[in-house]
Amino acid sequence: MAAVIIDGKQTAAELRARIAKECTALRRSGVLPGLCVVVVGDDPASAVYVRNKHRACEEAGIYSEIISLPAVTTQQALCTLIRQLNEAPQIHGILVQLPLPPQINPSAVIAVIDPRKDVDCFHAQNVGLLYLGTPRFSPCTPAGVIALLEEYGIAIAGKECVVLGRSNIVGKPLAAMLLARDGTVSICHSKTQGLREICARADILISAVGHAGFVRGDMIKPGAAVIDVGINRGADGKLCGDVVFSEALARAGHLTPVPGGVGPMTIAMLLQNTLTAAKLLSGAF
Ligand code: NDP
Repeated sequence: MAAVIIDGKQTAAELRARIAKECTALRRSGVLPGLCVVVVGDDPASAVYVRNKHRACEEAGIYSEIISLPAVTTQQALCTLIRQLNEAPQIHGILVQLPLPPQINPSAVIAVIDPRKDVDCFHAQNVGLLYLGTPRFSPCTPAGVIALLEEYGIAIAGKECVVLGRSNIVGKPLAAMLLARDGTVSICHSKTQGLREICARADILISAVGHAGFVRGDMIKPGAAVIDVGINRGADGKLCGDVVFSEALARAGHLTPVPGGVGPMTIAMLLQNTLTAAKLLSGAF
């Protein structure tokens, strides 16, 4: 039987509608949630992401500001701007769009963001809270993955969960979130030996590698939930994930498409975190 396709677009739309309602209620109590996205340079992919975030904010009733700085901006100038945003009462969430130009160290910049406004959940304090099991925010893409699993009734507790990729943005925090939900978690990376066998025992297989065609059908346990975080360009120039979709469709129990799977959830979770930050900073919690 073919896998159930997980509809990230639909799930994200429902989540955004709920967030919009909560934003309306918060506005009535005098707080307009606000997000500022800072972009340095003119990376074309970043421009698309930033536009999408701005549009999603507007639709949800979140005030959104985009600050675009030239590619030659110094780390000091960027940090000065962030310190100003830390003090800006209309801004509850600060997001520095990555990648940054080579003269800027992203870790140094993230460290300057007020952790209460760190809606990406990249600041060491928020990462620590996540790992301790007492999160202030949840990082957007991993939170989107968890929300999809929950929406489709896919149990995590006691299940073999395999995460492909160990980046600070996706793999590591996702593994922590699965562990916090009582999954039995393995993380694979470029030095992992026996990766195919590890994948084949997963009840939940999540790929965040960034290579088209990486996950083949024979790496999937029949009936497993397969979540494809990857965003790649295939040989035909079209957007695709890490998973060979046609092969996974025949083996998996649940499967996310690319596009239309995890991607829309990431933006919805950014709105959720901005709302959470606005509530925290305004004392509405
Ligand atoms: P990174 O490049 O930071 O990490 C990739 C990970 O994959 C690394 O841990 C790397 O291992 C591992 N890897 C690479 N090659 C192999 C291999 N041959 N075998 C096993 N592991 C391998 O990427 P990100 O985590 O930032 O993103 C991953 C993918 O997810 C990308 O396609 C990105 O575009 C997409 N993405 C999608 C989002 C969404 O909203 N849907 C949001 C964020 C990212 P090692 O650490 O050993 O180098």
